[in-house]
Amino acid sequence: MPKAQETVLEIDLNALKHNVAHLKSKLQKNTKFLAVVKAFAYGSDACEIAQFLEELKIDYFAVAYVKEGIALRKAGIRTPILVLHPQTASLTELIEYDLEPSLYNAKILSAFLDLALAKNQKNYPVHIKFNTGLNRLGFWENDVDYVLSKIKTSPVKIASIFSHLAASEDLNEKEFSLGQIEMFKTITEQCIQKIGYRPMLHMCNTSGILNYPEAHFDMVRCGIGLYGYGNSKTESANLKPIATLKTIISQIHSIEKGESVGYNRAFKSESIAKTATLPIGHADGISRIYGNGKGFVTINGQKAPIIGHVCMDMIMVNITHVHCKEGDEVIVFGGQSTSAEALAEAAGTISYELITSISQRVKRVLLK
Ligand SMILES: *Cc1c(COP(=O)(O)O)cnc(C)c1O
Repeated sequence: MPKAQETVLEIDLNALKHNVAHLKSKLQKNTKFLAVVKAFAYGSDACEIAQFLEELKIDYFAVAYVKEGIALRKAGIRTPILVLHPQTASLTELIEYDLEPSLYNAKILSAFLDLALAKNQKNYPVHIKFNTGLNRLGFWENDVDYVLSKIKTSPVKIASIFSHLAASEDLNEKEFSLGQIEMFKTITEQCIQKIGYRPMLHMCNTSGILNYPEAHFDMVRCGIGLYGYGNSKTESANLKPIATLKTIISQIHSIEKGESVGYNRAFKSESIAKTATLPIGHADGISRIYGNGKGFVTINGQKAPIIGHVCMDMIMVNITHVHCKEGDEVIVFGGQSTSAEALAEAAGTISYELITSISQRVKRVLLK
């Protein structure tokens, strides 16, 4: 692998391929695979990732917002794209770019059905979202009649009915999750009986794929697993993080006892120390929560804690006991030994937040 000359996010498509194969091996042969590529494919590069996955014959994509779906279409993606959280203001564009809406409340349902009618659509594929306990988005079980009566007289076709598990990664909440699965079955049985055809059913995210094989239904929606994290040590061990965030040492300082480092003099040295300044800061996605000893980087295989406050464009790390020189490569996260999960955990957050925060200022480098 090339040594970093500046701050870069390396994206390893072979690792992605490995993750797809591993996650698919958990499915029945006929279960479809939807790849969630929202938020720039979890902070990597949505268009490149989607193009690669399209070659691997992924069945569906999902994004959160219409804008994200449009970017994929402009990059030439032909695979169906489910928009998980559209707003009424973007529905015209949604149709224009052949994107498929999740309809989750009466407002978005009515707005979409009116628009589909006005635009002379026929059998436009839509996805109905039901709330089974996450209490975030979706119709309730007692909305079934209302939703179906509206849809019956409209120019849309229900491509799928879906729900989302609230705690699929937490086996202490197994009873709750099984309750969600049962509720989903009840809702979908009613729907199928009333509309007279069988849309696809789906409910599982990555942890659902791994922990609830009985709830795979017709399709699974996989996000974090594709990017190499399994929400537990054992599951993550079978996956490969696709992104490695690298930077280099810009400058090394020798600090005397009693001197301070960084803004507000947040770090005060109790002894002679050596620090390295790195060209990556909170504007690149290394939030201030990683400052003051919480977060760390890896230099030549050794851990160097972040000291003082994280600046906008820089961090300083303690290299008193690290063998290194200016220009050396620094790993912020990546691979299994220095995973984003470990860094996120050290600062009290989760890999999802850390990887999706890496800002567009950081150059993406694809390894094929
Ligand atoms: C983001 C998202 C997913 C993907 O979840 P992972 O835990 O990353 O696999 C699946 N379904 C919905 C509705 C989502 O919003």
